[in-house]
Amino acid sequence: MTFNVSQQEFSQHERGVSRETPEPGEAPAWTPIAEEAERASRVLHPDRHGMPRPAHRRILTVANQKGGVGKTTSTVNLAAALAMHGVRVLVIDLDPQGNASTALDVKHEVGTPSVYEVLLGEIRLAQAAVVSTASPNLLCVPATIDLAGAEIELVSMVARENRLKQTLSGGALDELGVDYVFVDCPPSLGLLTVNALVAAAEVLIPIQCEYYALEGLGQLLSNIDLVRSHLNTDLHISTILLTMYDGRTKLADQVTSEVRQHFGPTVLRTVIPRSVKVSEAPGYSQTVLAYDPGSRGAMSYVDAAREIADRGAAMVAPDASNGR
Ligand code: ATP
Ligand code: MG
Repeated sequence: MTFNVSQQEFSQHERGVSRETPEPGEAPAWTPIAEEAERASRVLHPDRHGMPRPAHRRILTVANQKGGVGKTTSTVNLAAALAMHGVRVLVIDLDPQGNASTALDVKHEVGTPSVYEVLLGEIRLAQAAVVSTASPNLLCVPATIDLAGAEIELVSMVARENRLKQTLSGGALDELGVDYVFVDCPPSLGLLTVNALVAAAEVLIPIQCEYYALEGLGQLLSNIDLVRSHLNTDLHISTILLTMYDGRTKLADQVTSEVRQHFGPTVLRTVIPRSVKVSEAPGYSQTVLAYDPGSRGAMSYVDAAREIADRGAAMVAPDASNGR
């Protein structure tokens, strides 16, 4: 009886048993651990993978009045990804829950200089901005629970919808030297969110890949239209990010294609997967990039941030007077 296997094939087969040890000069074999290490290296050694600065400063309001869709998670992780790759970023926590402040490891107990005092005109923006432990390029203006009262206190104020815009003007952002500002909104369409929509040119809407994802979105879109026609003609939806994608469900794909059909190229190609690591990170006052840099969640936020940065670099600078 003869075996129809050549010596060469046999030795290849034999070597195949332990493919994790490459031959000298051979590229390392693919393994899940190697892939995770490669992802972690891309997150942790950003100098080799820097992201471009935008053509002009970008202010993005992260809004969706639906609760728990990933506004805060997306704000802090996109901001951290940009900052770790060389771009200077400011996060303004405009939610009295203070979740963005927690995730960025910035103090937000009552009495801490916060966005509340800034909105009331008691302190300047720079006096409340703190460098996050997530990156030296990442600043955060925290929110304390005091902000819950602001929704009511603002009602009787002059130019109540313009308070945040005013605090960002007059060189306040030049002083901080930031390229990007992300404003994390509460889950409502109240005066705080309106202030955020007036202060920004761009809206970033996170949409959760779930059944009720599109429900209520109409209300957000009509509010954006209202603000655009009465208070801020520059306002537009520039970015849509699909979050908490679960590849095991048919529904996630249905929602994804429906959103892409409706919003076209505004939707980022990168989709954020549902991942335990992403939800665990804030419990350690960390972004997922710091908590588990090799995870799919971290990598997808880096990819989404790169798309945002590339779009920003491709924008046309309005004119030379628009300083950074
Ligand atoms: P709110 O409306 O209350 O401000 P939100 O829109 O800011 O909520 P997040 O707080 O970012 O939403 O997320 C809601 C919950 O879902 C959090 O517990 C968060 O950790 C979790 N979460 C967010 N993104 C993911 C993800 N990709 N995978 C798993 N869990 C996630
Ligand atoms: Mg939130």
